[in-house]
Amino acid sequence: MKIEILGCSGGIGNGLKTTTFLLDEQLLVDAGTGVELLSLDRMLQIRDVVITHSHLDHIVGLPLMLATIYDQHKHPINLYALPEVITALQNHIFNWTVWPDYTTLPEAQPIIRLHPINVGDQLKLQGKDIKVLPAAHPTPTVGYFISNGENSFAFTGDNGINDALWPILNTCKPDLLIIDVSFTDEVDELARLSGHLTPSHLADQLASFTHPARVMITHLKPGFEDTIMQQCRQLLPDWQVDRLHHGDILNLPVCPR
Ligand SMILES: [Zn+2]
Ligand SMILES: [Zn+2]
Repeated sequence: MKIEILGCSGGIGNGLKTTTFLLDEQLLVDAGTGVELLSLDRMLQIRDVVITHSHLDHIVGLPLMLATIYDQHKHPINLYALPEVITALQNHIFNWTVWPDYTTLPEAQPIIRLHPINVGDQLKLQGKDIKVLPAAHPTPTVGYFISNGENSFAFTGDNGINDALWPILNTCKPDLLIIDVSFTDEVDELARLSGHLTPSHLADQLASFTHPARVMITHLKPGFEDTIMQQCRQLLPDWQVDRLHHGDILNLPVCPR
């Protein structure tokens, strides 16, 4: 399985892009500003999109991409998200004020179809088994465990301290865990309030994770990347913990620990 990291930052600036992963060219996981790294031809290959939550940094690329491919697309795109996320997209994005309602355009065959999903659901998309994971964040959010039968990874989505997650991941046994550590240990309260982890929270959470997966950190706050990674490595000497960068192409299995 090829995971192309188009965006993985907690912000923008100086080339940084927000959460957007492309799997084997056809399945998009979140649609942040990383979408802009795709050529028109590559956007046209996308068939399915799974969204973790409705925060702007995870969806802003979607309406722009639909407008870009509108004249040339041959197949509708299927989007999967929590019912609350679908409602948010309909009410706040595809409402004819912020953007045209692409769920009704073109009339004969709308370019995007919205499919509600729930935590615990199993999807089968593009030959991959996808399990919808619980996430802890101030707005309804999920993560995803994605397997092609041979290799697998889990992505927490935007996620804070979340004790419901670990028993599930201990069963799923992902080869790779992509996990949100947005903040340094110095801003513990901000991290708790905003539903993200600090390095110390990560260390506490990984104590409940019994599978020796490789761990990659995502959603780091711009300007604090080096401190976050230093703190993670210091607290987790027994884990292989690396920073995700946009432009990374991860071919699973990636360097097992
Ligand atoms: Zn968020
Ligand atoms: Zn985010």
